[in-house]
Amino acid sequence: MRDTKIVATLGPASSDENVLREMIKAGVNVVRINFSHGTAQDHIDRVVSVRKIALEMGVHIGVLADLQGPKIRIAQFAEGKVILENGAEFVFDTDAATLGDVNRVGLDFPELIKDVEKNDVLLLDDGKIRVKVILKTSDSLRCVVEQGGVLSNRKGINKLGGGLSAAALTSKDCADLITAAAFEADYLAISFPKNAADMYMARELMRNAGGKNAQMIAKIERAEAIPNLAEILDASDGIMVARGDLAVEVGDAKVPALQKKMIRMAREKNKLTITATQMMESMISSHVPTRAEVSDVANAVLDGTDAVMLSAETASGSFPVETVRVMAQVCEEAALFAPITLDQEMMNMTFGRIDQSVAMAAIFTAYHLKANAIIVLTESGSTPLWMSRFNSGVPIYAFSRNVHTLRRLSLFREVNVMPLPDQDMTHEKATTLIESTLIKQGVLKQGDTAVITYGSNMGKVGASDTMRIRRIGG
Ligand code: PGA
Ligand code: MN
Repeated sequence: MRDTKIVATLGPASSDENVLREMIKAGVNVVRINFSHGTAQDHIDRVVSVRKIALEMGVHIGVLADLQGPKIRIAQFAEGKVILENGAEFVFDTDAATLGDVNRVGLDFPELIKDVEKNDVLLLDDGKIRVKVILKTSDSLRCVVEQGGVLSNRKGINKLGGGLSAAALTSKDCADLITAAAFEADYLAISFPKNAADMYMARELMRNAGGKNAQMIAKIERAEAIPNLAEILDASDGIMVARGDLAVEVGDAKVPALQKKMIRMAREKNKLTITATQMMESMISSHVPTRAEVSDVANAVLDGTDAVMLSAETASGSFPVETVRVMAQVCEEAALFAPITLDQEMMNMTFGRIDQSVAMAAIFTAYHLKANAIIVLTESGSTPLWMSRFNSGVPIYAFSRNVHTLRRLSLFREVNVMPLPDQDMTHEKATTLIESTLIKQGVLKQGDTAVITYGSNMGKVGASDTMRIRRIGG
C-alpha cells in the first residue's frame, strides 16, 4: 500500500486506452484534465475512457479538471520563433493580429501593459528569457533583452515579483468550467487565484453549472497569493503547489521553503495538497529519472503532501507508464522513513463537531493501541479527511456507497478507497462484510485489532457518532 497519491496529466501520450490501463495499474489515483491544451471533446473522450477503464478494473479514479486561468501569452511570429540576443531591444504591443519578428510581438492580454512600469522585469517561457522594460507607452512596452534565447509562438509571460491584475477566471475558463461540470469533475483546479474571493466565485460558478460534487483546488502560483494563503485555504478544499509559475514570480530559490510552509498550513486547516511540476521532468524523454528528481518526489512525500503530480511526463512524454511506476516506488520508499507520530498540538485541540471528535478519537486510539487498520464508513468523506491529516502510521480504509465520495477519496493521503454495496445494511452486517473483505485481501488476520467509525444513522451526511474497537475473530 502506498500512502501518497499520484496525479497524472492526460494528453496525446496517454489517450490510448491500453496506455491508460497500464498507467492506472502502475499507480495513478487521479487524472488531470488540462484545459490549457486540447479541445472540449478531447477532454470529454478522455474522461469517458478513464471512467470505463476504472469500472472494468474495479478501482476509483478521481478526475481533476484544471482551468487554464489568465496565463498571459505572447501572440505568434511570422517564422514561428525568433532568437533574442542579449542586449537587443524588443517590443511587446497590443497588435496581436500582426505576426511578430525579431523586433516585436503582440500580446494576447493587452492589459498587461497597464500593470507594468519602466524597470520592471518580464520573464518569458518559464523564466528562460528575461527582459527589462525601458519605455512604456499606452500600447507598447519597449524592453532590453537581459537573458536571450529562442522565443517561440504563444509562450507564457510573467512579471517578476507578481502584480498582474488579470481576473482569475477568463471567459475561456467559464466555458471550460461548464464542460468540467458536464463530465462531473471530482476536483476543479483554479489557476492564478489571488485571494479567497477568486475561489468563492469559482465555487459559485461551478455550483451554478451543475458541478455540485467538485472540490475546489487553488493553484498557488502568484506572488500575491502567498500573503493570502490562509484565506485562500479557508475558501478552498485544497491547494496545488504549482511550482512552475510560482518559481517564475517569486524566484526559484524561495519555492522549496514555500512548499513546506503550504503543505503544513493546509494540513493544519484540514485541506488537501498536490505538489506539482517538473517532478520527473527528465522522464519526458528518458526511461530513468535524475537523482535530483527522485529526491524531489521523496521530499514532497516527507513534507506530507497528499499527492505528487505529473504534467508533460504523462501528457506528452515518451514513457508515461514507466514514469508512474518509478514515482510510485519512490513514494513507497520515502514513506518508510516518514516519522510516525501524532502532532503535539492534537492534545490541545477542541472540536465543534461530533463527527470530527469521533474521527480524532479513532486516530488517537488507533495510534496508541497500535491497531492494524482504521475502518471508516463514510458518506461525505469528511471523517477520513480529518483522520488523514495525522500521520498515525495506521492505514485508513474508507468504505462508502457514494461513488462521488469514493472518487474524491482517491486524492487523500493514507486513505484506501473501498466501495460498499449500494444496499441497506445494519452496522453489524456492514462490519462483518468489511472485515471479511479485508481478511480476504490480506490486510487483517485473526487476532488483529481494527478501529471502526460510523454514524448510527447510516447514510446520513456528517453523522459519524460511533467508534468501536474490534478484535478480529474475537
Ligand atoms: P500549469 O500549472 O501546468 O497549468 O502551468 C502548474 C504550475 O504552474 O506549476
Ligand atoms: Mn501554472
